Amino acid sequence: MALSTPAGYRALDGKSLPQYLLDLDDVRRLLGGKPEQWTVREVGDGNLNLVFIVEGPAGGVCVKQALPYVRAAGESWPMPLERAFFESSYYTAVAPYVGGLIPTIYNYSPTLYCTVMERLTPHVIQRREMIAGRRHPKASPDVAEYIARASFFTSDLAGAFERKMDMTAIFAKNQPPVRITIELIFADPYRTNPRNRWTSPQLDEVCADFHRDGPLKAAAARFGDKFLSEAQALIHGDLHTGSVMVTPTDTRVIDPEFVMMGPVGFDLGAYMGNLLLSWYSQPGHATAADDRKAMQAWILEQVTIFWETFRDRFLALWRSNANGDAYPASMFPAPSDVPFLEGARRAYVDSLFADMLGFGACKMIRRILGFAHNIDFEWIKDQDRRGAAETGALLMARTLLTHPEQFHSISDVVAAVPYFVRKPGAAGAPIRL
Ligand code: ADP
Ligand code: MG
Repeated sequence: MALSTPAGYRALDGKSLPQYLLDLDDVRRLLGGKPEQWTVREVGDGNLNLVFIVEGPAGGVCVKQALPYVRAAGESWPMPLERAFFESSYYTAVAPYVGGLIPTIYNYSPTLYCTVMERLTPHVIQRREMIAGRRHPKASPDVAEYIARASFFTSDLAGAFERKMDMTAIFAKNQPPVRITIELIFADPYRTNPRNRWTSPQLDEVCADFHRDGPLKAAAARFGDKFLSEAQALIHGDLHTGSVMVTPTDTRVIDPEFVMMGPVGFDLGAYMGNLLLSWYSQPGHATAADDRKAMQAWILEQVTIFWETFRDRFLALWRSNANGDAYPASMFPAPSDVPFLEGARRAYVDSLFADMLGFGACKMIRRILGFAHNIDFEWIKDQDRRGAAETGALLMARTLLTHPEQFHSISDVVAAVPYFVRKPGAAGAPIRL
């Protein structure tokens, strides 16, 4: 089936890409030499797009182009190209606030639906590093700082509501990714759908149990509703460890094509939930030389650092940049007002914490019972070990959703994580603890 595309659009390849880059003065200078000397490699490992690395004698660039369908599913699942526009618009919107935590953008082509950006090197995807057992201590605090800055400065706490509504008007049209999120994250893992898959037969029982679990389904649906209705700030929309590129000294957030005005806890939960998935997957990557226990301890430290850095930075930004229409500073001029305003700020951040846990749990479940899975688990060859790791993660996530009252602080979360570990092949072990 050939999908119809707008005039001028064509999927780029090794031949047409240099021709296109040749016309961009800055990019041509950056690459250096002649187009014949430029090498083009397609490196996209994602679900949706073409991603090229182009190298010339003087330097390199990365080019990301939208395809008119979901790459992981094929042409039978069409996906409008416009998400590329929203991705580049997101970068432009947050760039003033997040400094060097995103790639530099050189060009966006509205006909090719493609973005030319800084080639990140020697950066690697954080998820892959965690699977390999490698630690990047800057990553989690940097992502926390990133979310604090990107979300605070695009919220009503920092600016006039007109500015936020104007942003809403633009990004509200990025609807196909929202459709994917609402179905694949908040609904499909809890109902029968041909797109779902799970490690079978190891997870058959727990999957059926999740589909029957009324309190769990009500909690997940509540977070789906929050996702659709709480336009707190401009959010990335897909901020898992596969959207973070790292070196020992530098961190960059990439792939914001799921951008929308939404709940801040959704970005927080995406990252935290994926740290937890990595924790549960670690035994599946153990070797004789490394049982991964130290790696697991390190991951739980990152969970705490991530939340505490976010909380402290968000509160600090609010105290010093309260120029918005929400909680206007002029309402609280007297010293006697201060404790009440500070209490309100604490309550706001507490609600983000609760949202992080709920959204994080939904993100964990969808990666195990839904359509899109994580290489953290997929790369575990032994299906019994994989099933055990995934079941532990599922039980933790279910508890986060159905017993939020048990998690008052991040230390409550960290303390609960090891409790749900299951042994591979533990036949008959109860799904409900
Ligand atoms: P998708 O949306 O299709 O998942 P991503 O934006 O996640 O695409 O990019 C896919 C892969 O391409 C990333 O996992 C990463 O390996 C590589 N990549 C993306 N952007 C860059 C960049 N700016 N520099 C170097 N590599 C990149
Ligand atoms: Mg993507």
